[in-house]
Amino acid sequence: MSPLQRVTVLGATGSIGRSTLDVLARHPQRYEVFALSGFSRLADLEALCLLHRPSYAVTADAGSARLLQDALQSAGLATQVLFGNEGLCEVAAHPQADTVMAAIVGSAGLAPTLAAVTAGKRILLANKEALVMSGALFMQAVRNSGSVLLPIDSEHNAIFQCLPGDYARGLEQIGIRRILLTASGGPFRETPLSELPAVTPEQACAHPNWSMGRKISVDSASMMNKGLELIEACWLFNARPSQIEVVIHPQSVIHSLVDYVDGSVLAQLGNPDMRTPIAQALAWPERIDSGVAALDLFKVARLDFQPPDEQRFPCLGLARQVAEAGSSAPAMLNAANEIAVASFLEKRIRFTDIPLLIDEVLNREQIQPVESLEDVMAADQRARTAAERWLKQYAH
Ligand code: NAD
Ligand code: MG
Repeated sequence: MSPLQRVTVLGATGSIGRSTLDVLARHPQRYEVFALSGFSRLADLEALCLLHRPSYAVTADAGSARLLQDALQSAGLATQVLFGNEGLCEVAAHPQADTVMAAIVGSAGLAPTLAAVTAGKRILLANKEALVMSGALFMQAVRNSGSVLLPIDSEHNAIFQCLPGDYARGLEQIGIRRILLTASGGPFRETPLSELPAVTPEQACAHPNWSMGRKISVDSASMMNKGLELIEACWLFNARPSQIEVVIHPQSVIHSLVDYVDGSVLAQLGNPDMRTPIAQALAWPERIDSGVAALDLFKVARLDFQPPDEQRFPCLGLARQVAEAGSSAPAMLNAANEIAVASFLEKRIRFTDIPLLIDEVLNREQIQPVESLEDVMAADQRARTAAERWLKQYAH
């Protein structure tokens, strides 16, 4: 690797993208921003380009690419502007890029993330949906290319930090009893069940501890986020779903734990700020300053734990079933959830309709074997069509 690491940030205008750029800017002697992508907020992407002066920028379509190209040229920048899925895959797999931060939200991130994996890049994976959709294929591509895969999701980054280097051999082989995946419980942990049907997108997006994009915020409120993370952890750490226990920990200070057979339980703690896992993965195996304040244990004072209530959070049970079923089931769950969350944010369905819609799609559509990216995309498409059919019948 060259001493100066060139970093592509996919999803640069989002919450993870901005936190990544914040950490990169603290270490100009170590990192250079190679490419930035954004989808809808063109002015934001332009501002980020002016600040970080990347070699490439990627927008949603030809029209927005032309606008951005003109603006950057007038400002004297040599940044080349590309667009669409092709542009994303190009900057993800570009020979001059060393590291790719995969921080696009949802299934749109799958193709560029896989392109980066296939090209053998160092992958910083925030886009959990990509791994959930394509699990076995994704991990096989990592092994084939020798790409270094580092988890950004705070829980998985915590688990990674608590595991020995040879964890890919299997958890039992290295003396691990189980992984304890922590969850805050989100904004509705204590809301009376009778009030859940009437909660608004604004309430769902007001997370008590983390500031995140709207999709993952709704997932956190329904705990589908923890369900997706359970599937993600199975792939990342070669674990069975039964080896992963979800623990509600409302303070979000312990980011997850690993329970060893000798009774030792290792945990990673820190303030809830994504710049910590981002800096850990960027610099691994070294350590760099992330800008996050030192944890003040006296201010935290207490750490609480409780089991999740599956009646309150049916999405968690659905994800566990899907994790056991494997094949195309996780891609179907993910697609149905993406449609359900978008419909809830558009106020077409109620919050409590989210698990109903997903359950309906999983019951209607057959689970199929997955051998290629085409199989994954076909399962994704079938689930979306089934979800749209449900919406036509039940949504306003
Ligand atoms: P966000 O909504 O803030 O940002 C999403 C980014 O993806 C934006 O840059 C947007 O322009 C881009 N994007 C959206 N749709 C796109 C499309 N169709 N094509 C190309 N680009 C598109 O989301 P976020 O909170 O930053 O989350 C990003 C990913 O990281 C998600 O997969 C999320 O689950 C994961 N993650 C986020 C956090 C967090 O704290 N925010 C924590 C853990 C994991
Ligand atoms: Mg997480």
